[in-house]
Amino acid sequence: MCFRIKVWIICGQGVMERQPIHVLVIPFPAQGHVAPLMKFSHKIVDHGINVTFVTTEFIHAKLTASMAVKSEEKSPIRLVSIPDGLEPGDDRKDTPKLMESIEKVMPGHLKDLIEKINQSNDDDQISCIIADTTVGWALEVAEKMGIKRASVWPAGPANLAFALHIPKLIEEGIIDIKGTPIENNLIWLSKDIPAWSSTILPWSCPGDSKTQKCFFESYAFKMNHYLRPCNWLLCNSFYELDSPACNLIPGIIPIGPLILGNQLGSHAGSFLPQDSTCLSWLEKQVVGSVIYVSFGSIATFSQQQFDELTLSLELISQPFLWVVRSDVIGGLNSEFLDGFRTRIVDRGKIVEWAPQEKVLAHPSIACFLSHCGWNSTLEGISMGVPFLCWPYYGDQFHNKSYICDVWKIGLGLNSDENGLITRHEIKTKIETLLSDDGIKINALKLKEIAKKSVTDGGSSFKNFKSFIEQIKH
Ligand code: UDP
Repeated sequence: MCFRIKVWIICGQGVMERQPIHVLVIPFPAQGHVAPLMKFSHKIVDHGINVTFVTTEFIHAKLTASMAVKSEEKSPIRLVSIPDGLEPGDDRKDTPKLMESIEKVMPGHLKDLIEKINQSNDDDQISCIIADTTVGWALEVAEKMGIKRASVWPAGPANLAFALHIPKLIEEGIIDIKGTPIENNLIWLSKDIPAWSSTILPWSCPGDSKTQKCFFESYAFKMNHYLRPCNWLLCNSFYELDSPACNLIPGIIPIGPLILGNQLGSHAGSFLPQDSTCLSWLEKQVVGSVIYVSFGSIATFSQQQFDELTLSLELISQPFLWVVRSDVIGGLNSEFLDGFRTRIVDRGKIVEWAPQEKVLAHPSIACFLSHCGWNSTLEGISMGVPFLCWPYYGDQFHNKSYICDVWKIGLGLNSDENGLITRHEIKTKIETLLSDDGIKINALKLKEIAKKSVTDGGSSFKNFKSFIEQIKH
């Protein structure tokens, strides 16, 4: 359900009605992509622009199921779905299979959808497509239909700079055409950007060569190909956070951090219902005392690593709030978790999915034990929370380098000789982090810079305003 906004402009002698602007927003079907594009959509509708938000049928079902019915009806964003080409029971965690299917069927469905919308109402034509950079084919559909197009990069600018430099890295013999580093050296784009370890590149998937190939092709060829014809290239960051990387990307428009702020939690683009009981629990905790533990929507653990984390939380004396998704390990033992819950009941809270932004903004939070996904990173920065970094894959390792070495707002965890992050390592690092006033001060300073960038006169504020003015004309 949606409501449409008519825009009135005062012109010379009198008032005339202007056609409403209608944009179509399309994210990659994953939590870390849908959430920021949903937040972006909220910002757009706040400027009197109609938004149709297109996801796959599979994701649409998750979004609507996690959303209160009433808030869906009230939402100014129209949610629409198209098929992803897979069967209902197919495994959508099989990224190569999902991407292959999406690229095969979704361009046709998207074109049909746009034609249908445009034919249904002369006053409500789609005038711009805003597509996640990882669904570049949507930009191609827009181009063929003569519609303006913006691409939104939902991760950090340094990663985009790296992707755009891949042809040069191949040319210079630093990596081969399959993305394999020729030598075991650090890879630098500039002296002001942390180097990439040749063993952990953004497309690295140890032990899964099929997914790695799929990621590399997407990074190396598809993104470089699809970005060329787009009218705007936006990213969820702010210039002051990473000016060296932004300066390497021609035409980049940072408009972040995209934060939901006062918008309703149910509009956050969550795939799971947010358990708000943790907010009332946080109310009862001492200011600056709680360790928030969350690893985003994808990261998984071995049983041994999960047990080690559990034991570390039992060892520390601080209260903690831990997000444990049901798929965080294969065959999560609910009896074990119930036993753990009973043992830590006086100082620990476990939820399956939290209203993360609200949690991070709560005064009781002391630090964020995080996988360093880009959204979590920006959310932690926006709330001034120090990080304990536990990256899981891809760009998260590089985000960790920024957090620890560039912004100096957190510490990293080290694994032992067997690749395990031990309970003692976690305990020690939490204690070190919580007693480090320098890190706390840096985190609060960065929070202020982030806030300034999105308030009137700030860099992201101006970029966003200018983008809105351009798509309106
Ligand atoms: N998130 C949430 N509740 C949770 C855990 C995560 O709402 O309990 C949100 C979080 O705020 C972020 C997104 O899920 O916006 C995760 O994105 P991120 O890039 O951090 O990680 P990914 O899931 O892509 O690995």
